[in-house]
Amino acid sequence: MSTKNIIYMDYQATTPCDKRVLESMLPYFCDDFGNPHSNHVMGSRAHEAVEKARDQIAKLIKANNAREIIFTSGATESNNLAICGVARFYGEKRKKIITDPIEHKCVLEACRAMEREGFEIVMLPVSEKGLIDLNALEKAVDEQTVLVSVMTANNEIGVVQPIDEISGICRRKNVPFHTDAAQAVGKTEVDASKVDLMSISAHKIYGPKGIGALYVGLNPRIKLTPLFFGGGQERGMRSGTLAPALCAGFGKACEIAASEMESERARLTMLKDRFLKKIFAGLDRVYLNGDEKQGIPGCINLSFFGVEGEGIMLGIPDICISSGSACTSESLEPSYVLKAIGARDEVIHSSLRIGLGRFTTAEEVDRAASKIITAVKRLRAMSPVWKEEDCEIFGKSNESLSGSEKYRRTG
Ligand SMILES: *Cc1c(COP(=O)(O)O)cnc(C)c1O
Repeated sequence: MSTKNIIYMDYQATTPCDKRVLESMLPYFCDDFGNPHSNHVMGSRAHEAVEKARDQIAKLIKANNAREIIFTSGATESNNLAICGVARFYGEKRKKIITDPIEHKCVLEACRAMEREGFEIVMLPVSEKGLIDLNALEKAVDEQTVLVSVMTANNEIGVVQPIDEISGICRRKNVPFHTDAAQAVGKTEVDASKVDLMSISAHKIYGPKGIGALYVGLNPRIKLTPLFFGGGQERGMRSGTLAPALCAGFGKACEIAASEMESERARLTMLKDRFLKKIFAGLDRVYLNGDEKQGIPGCINLSFFGVEGEGIMLGIPDICISSGSACTSESLEPSYVLKAIGARDEVIHSSLRIGLGRFTTAEEVDRAASKIITAVKRLRAMSPVWKEEDCEIFGKSNESLSGSEKYRRTG
C-alpha cells in the first residue's frame, strides 16, 4: 500500500520529521561528521551544532541555563534517568516516590524498579477527568519523599496537570519535582524553571526519533546517579558520544515549535471542533474521554458505545489511529489510563484516540470523520447488544460523560 491515501491521525504516538528539521540535520552526517567531544576543528564544528541545539531546547522550555539540558535517547531514557537517578542519589535518607496511575509506562516501570530497590511508591488518586488530587499530594509529600513525578500532559487523554500548583507544594517542602513533558512541549507553554527535572522527546515534536533530553535544574541544583558510565559527557549524567545530527534536528524542531505554537494551537482547535461536530452529527452515543477544556490541542479520545475500538480500526485500515486496548501495544490489555480515571470496561473497549497535528488538513478531518461514522454504523447494525442494552447504560445524546455515573465502573 502506498502512503498516498493514508490519513495519519496518531500524532501522540509519533510525528513525521518536519522537512526543515531534516534539512538542519543533513550537514552532520557526511560533511561535519566530527565527534563533538574531540579537540580539533572538526570536533568543534560538531560541538557548535550541539550547543546551538542545547540553546534552542532551553529556550522552548524556558530553562535559565542551557547547561541544564542533558541529551538522552528519548523521553523513556529521560524518565528512567530522572526517577532512578534521583532515587539512587538521594535514597540513603529518603525512601518515598510519589507519582500517579496515568503516567507513561516508562515512569510507572521505573518506579516499580525502584520499589524493588527498597523505595515506597505512593500513587496519587486521579479524578474522572484525569487530574491528580492536589490535597492528596499535599498530604503525601513529606521529609521522607525523594521525588514527585507527575506528567505535564497525558498521552492518551491529553489532560494537562496543574504544574504550577504541584510545583508550589514541592518547593515549599523541598522535594524534587520531575515532570514528563513529552506530550506537552511544543503544544502548550511549559516552564522548566518551575520544576527540577523535565523529560522531553524530539520525535513528538516533528524532530527525529532516537533523541530526547532531560532538564536537570541548577538552581536549586539537582544531582543524580547516572544510569551508565563512561566518558562523563553531559555533566557526568549521561556518558556517550552525542549525535550532532540528531541534536541539530531536535534543536530546530524546538525552534519551529516555539515560533508556530500559537498559530498551530488555533488551527488544531479548529480542526478538532470540526471533527467532533461531524462525528456528533453523524452518530449518537459517542463520548469524550478526559477533560475537554484542560487538554493539549489535537488529542481526541472518544468512546463509541456498542462497538470495539479494535473493530472500528479494522474497518478503516487506511486511517492511523489508536485504540484504547492497543495503546500498550503488544498486550491487548485495556487502557490502564482510562481504567484509572474510572471508565467502565465498555467505555474503554470502545475507545479510540485520534491525534491531529501539524500536517493534518481539514479535508483529512472530513474524510476520516465520515469513514469512522460509516464503520461505526456498520458495526452497530451487526451488533446484537446494540439495540437492547444501550440506553440503559448511556443516555441518547452525545456528551462528555466524565464524572457521570453512567461512565464510571461500578465494580
Ligand atoms: C512518547 C512518550 C514517552 C516516550 O518517549 P520516547 O522518546 O519515545 O522514549 C514518554 N512519555 C510520554 C508522555 C510520551 O508521550
